[in-house]
Amino acid sequence: MTRFIFITGGVVSSLGKGIASAALGALLQARGFKVRLRKLDPYLNVDPGTMSPYQHGEVYVTDDGAETDLDLGHYERFTGVSSKSTDNVTTGKIYSSVIAKERRGDYLGATIQVIPHVTDAIKEFVLADLKDDDFVLCEIGGTVGDIEGLPFLEAIRQLGNELGRERVMYVHLTLIPHIPSSGELKTKPTQHSVKELLSVGIQPDVLLCRSDREIPPAERRKIALFCNVREEAVIPATDVSSIYEVPLSYHAEGFDDQVCRHFGVAREQGPDLHGWQEIVKRIQSPEGEVTIAVVGKYVHMLDSYKSLIEALSHGGIANHVRLNLDWIDSEVFEKENAVRQLGDVNGILVPGGFGERGAEGKIAAVQFAREKRVPYFGICFGMQMAVVEIARHLANLEEANSTEFGSTKDPVVGLMTEWMHGDSLERRSEDGELGGTMRLGAYPCDLEPGSRVHEIYGGAGHISERHRHRFEVNINYVNQLASVGLRFSGMSPDGKLPEIIEMADHPWFIGVQFHPELKSRPFEPHPLFTSFIEAAVKQSRLV
Ligand code: GLN
Repeated sequence: MTRFIFITGGVVSSLGKGIASAALGALLQARGFKVRLRKLDPYLNVDPGTMSPYQHGEVYVTDDGAETDLDLGHYERFTGVSSKSTDNVTTGKIYSSVIAKERRGDYLGATIQVIPHVTDAIKEFVLADLKDDDFVLCEIGGTVGDIEGLPFLEAIRQLGNELGRERVMYVHLTLIPHIPSSGELKTKPTQHSVKELLSVGIQPDVLLCRSDREIPPAERRKIALFCNVREEAVIPATDVSSIYEVPLSYHAEGFDDQVCRHFGVAREQGPDLHGWQEIVKRIQSPEGEVTIAVVGKYVHMLDSYKSLIEALSHGGIANHVRLNLDWIDSEVFEKENAVRQLGDVNGILVPGGFGERGAEGKIAAVQFAREKRVPYFGICFGMQMAVVEIARHLANLEEANSTEFGSTKDPVVGLMTEWMHGDSLERRSEDGELGGTMRLGAYPCDLEPGSRVHEIYGGAGHISERHRHRFEVNINYVNQLASVGLRFSGMSPDGKLPEIIEMADHPWFIGVQFHPELKSRPFEPHPLFTSFIEAAVKQSRLV
């Protein structure tokens, strides 16, 4: 029997509902349950794929090619369960499907309304594509009280009635702010937020209370009394220094115990949290540190690099070192000498990105890394810019560039208009739609025996990694670039799409067309990140 836990947020946004949901998922999993996590986003975009990274942060891509909310990345990292396109829905997607049905005449002449048609579509999404999952955790985006969130709250209220309260639980995440002038923690915003939820017919079962300090028992009792929940179901969620401490801290406060109690499932045997304890121990007691420069365009909005930051930290955990990330706006190098900024870093990473602004700065960072023999990791755009740099400075193609920035004499990176995805041919044109039309999701890649990446991936001949890009390294330049030392060590199985490049006579210089950061997990750090950080540790010993 599948049980459903709905997680809503109140008072303010950015309280970390995604991490809270992921951490609860991890705790239930550590008790031996099978979990699935889903996100319901009330905004009108069909998916976050067309949103600017400045607006929405990272777009997380699933194996099956969905462009989803970055919280799905937390879910995967905390539980190891791969998300699917059926795990994230938005108001835009719900309305598109309802309107398409109306046009087809599927509603047999009915007047289409938010209740029941939109709420039915939301409920269908919550219940769809489940097999033998014990728990489905559904996070509702936004904050209770938002206009666009109402149909979602109404749908989950209905599910509570339809499935029965023994199969449904409501968790509300709120903030208990500290007011310095009075020296007190304030419970009033939480009381108001719960009232707001009650006004749409939802009585929360558990209140998860974010606070920057311990919540004294008297305050806990007060919250319980005013919000009509049991005292033990008021769970303090005090700030911790690493997100990977959250499952341990929730468990210590009895969160998973309350969930088990609500559903009447076995509580005697607590969760096995050894793995989490080990990770936290490693994070708290590093044996050294290295500095990695990340040269990108969205460095003022670090949510754009959520998975990247986590994958790097996993590489640090694997190598027992603490990472200092030096965020460098790529535009800086267009005015300033790279040496001043990059002189004492142990590794340089150019992440994914879009558009011409800052591109020359990224190329300058690649040149610095290549010439000064500093470990270099180029991801997607970072690989494309490495190819441009090598074409210009080693292969004497002075005007080499990507056609993403306009036409050029030597288009070493260009738009792919046709490619194979499994057995089907995908086609794109320059003036096509932007939404959902990149090369998206998992694609296979063959690794060249004897190459560095072949060794990094433990001798595997074939790998699968996730993509999200429109442009590709131009296969017509492969021989010319190979003749100056660039090795194409990973290719699509049909040999048409360069997936990985590496420079042989360099301590560590690798570019990948895919996004390895999307598949890195604290318990299974991605081999490329582990290896890159290992190279940075070696480099740090040289200086
Ligand atoms: N802008 C490049 C492309 O579309 C790279 C995209 C990325 O880095 N994700 O191909």
